[in-house]
Amino acid sequence: MDYSELVEVYQRLESTQSSLEKTTILSQLFKGKKDEDLQRLVKLCMGRIFSAWKDEDIGISSKLMVKALKKVSGNTEDEITQEWKSTGDLGRTAKNLLGKKKQQTFAVQKLTVEKVHENLKKLAGFEGSGSQSRKIDSISELLSMSEPEEAKYIVRTVLRNMRLGVGEGIIRDAVLEAFFPKFLSFSEALGEDLGGSAVLVDGKLKDEFVNEKSFEPEATIDLEETKIREENISDYDIIVSDEDTVKKISEDIKNIVQHAYDVTNDFGEVAVTAKNRGVEGLSDLDMEVFRPVNAMLAQKVDSIEEGFETVGKPAGIDYKYDGMRAQIHKKDGEVKVFTRRLDDITEQFPDVVEAVKEGVEAENCIIDSEIVAYDPDDGSMVPFQKLSKRIKRKYNIEEMVDKIPVEVRPFDLIYLEGSVIKENYSKRFEKLENMIEESEKSIRMVDHEVTESDERVNALQQKSLSEGHEGIMMKNLHAEYKPGSRVGYMVKLKPVMETLDLMIIGAEWSEGRRSGWLGSLTLGCKGDDGEYLEVGKLATGLTDEQLEDITERLEPLIVSEDGRQVEVRPEVMVEAEFEEIQKSPTYSSGYALRFPRLKRFREDKEDADSLEKVARLYKSQN
Ligand code: AMP
Repeated sequence: MDYSELVEVYQRLESTQSSLEKTTILSQLFKGKKDEDLQRLVKLCMGRIFSAWKDEDIGISSKLMVKALKKVSGNTEDEITQEWKSTGDLGRTAKNLLGKKKQQTFAVQKLTVEKVHENLKKLAGFEGSGSQSRKIDSISELLSMSEPEEAKYIVRTVLRNMRLGVGEGIIRDAVLEAFFPKFLSFSEALGEDLGGSAVLVDGKLKDEFVNEKSFEPEATIDLEETKIREENISDYDIIVSDEDTVKKISEDIKNIVQHAYDVTNDFGEVAVTAKNRGVEGLSDLDMEVFRPVNAMLAQKVDSIEEGFETVGKPAGIDYKYDGMRAQIHKKDGEVKVFTRRLDDITEQFPDVVEAVKEGVEAENCIIDSEIVAYDPDDGSMVPFQKLSKRIKRKYNIEEMVDKIPVEVRPFDLIYLEGSVIKENYSKRFEKLENMIEESEKSIRMVDHEVTESDERVNALQQKSLSEGHEGIMMKNLHAEYKPGSRVGYMVKLKPVMETLDLMIIGAEWSEGRRSGWLGSLTLGCKGDDGEYLEVGKLATGLTDEQLEDITERLEPLIVSEDGRQVEVRPEVMVEAEFEEIQKSPTYSSGYALRFPRLKRFREDKEDADSLEKVARLYKSQN
């Protein structure tokens, strides 16, 4: 398939806001494709080069892309940055710059989807010295072969920002639409023109249907014997008795497709299986050890009462540790450890591998856990910030193991000789407890209790905080494990931090849909000599209205610009909420707010909070 055909599909996806239209556009693309092409197309439409579970990254930043564009377009880096600032999108920038250049060059050989995909895949293999320039060469070669519109999407694919508005839900629905029949109720079917389309009718309705519609269906189907499972019937309309049956069957099939994705973490595989083997094939798919799945996420609640309302009573109450989420896979004596982003960190944590080999009795399992660091001298808890130093370490790993030792705290079970995510949480927890042989400072079950008493939860919360942990988790005892979802099956309850009043001292011109607006606000506290010191960047969670408001306030205050970054006169103050304060070598205050959020503008206050207050809050956390 020519890449230009896929580009046309991208353009159509980009030009509509409607999820239903996007679904149909994609389902048409997926239909009738060969297995390999289908795998590829599904990935590329999700803006991916590899499957979600593969720990491979082509490692190309916007900065490197600017260098590649320089090479193919003949423009200077400054010119490219200028164009980027006005479009807010390097993809569009590539299109504009190459468009100007293309008029003078020869027609190029046509790119195919396969060629683009294969070339991008190769980038991940470039490692070590000289790899940066090889990457630039390889990307610029691909861009020089592409039409301007193609270049736009290649750049976006490489930078993992497709701007198509296609999420997992739309891909799932497109797979449903492409490879499963359309179900219609009898009354709907009578009103609809079915002439020409292949039609199956629930056996019970056949005579009536023939009388009313005056044509013979291709065949009848016996829903109760669920023939749908056996035939390749994606091209059919299936007529069933009533609206409720339509809803039920559609919902059932949607759940089967979703489950197939949850266990495989690979929509390419789901699509190919749906196409070739329908419901039956999808139901056969299961997790595989060493292929990570998405972690179930936690909702936030502000009170014990709200927690119980969400997860029900009684609930499982765990300590919430300030560690790192780890999905641990074990099979035939081999262990692998994955982060929440599904990166493989086995090499960095030989102590975890050892702890699991010793302390997990099951041989074929996937465990959800928190890895918690402790002080080797006094055994006290050490915050995540310190532990995070171990994650990216490539050398002297053993030294880090001694300096920042860890303990594994398992809290859920995902797989035991097969996926157990459909089983309820209390069952999974019981199985997990039975397979862990605890050993202090190596592997221990999470601190856990089942209760329905508000007072007891409060006591646990206080105890957890006094021991230096973050708070508690409350969990629904009857819930399944939903990979990748922030369903309310587990919730986190953390004490609310004090807020800080901070001055906006810088900002950045946004990209994409929001270009033309200032965002990513640099916040400053007041230093001892009256100067402002950076304590963080407030970049997420701002609404369009807020960005517009902020731009209006800040634009007249700009004192200097450097690329997309601007410096502003310190006149606009905000009250910021945040998760915690960390030490920072990069910010001039020496501290960084983690996940700052805008609470409100402070029109009523003279000056920002002091560095001394930031330092005090930092200390009070521990
Ligand atoms: P947050 O990162 O604030 O959304 O909180 C959710 C995170 O808390 C999870 O991803 C885990 O890494 C962490 N966590 C710590 N203790 C537990 C626990 N007992 N159960 C589940 N998650 C936990």
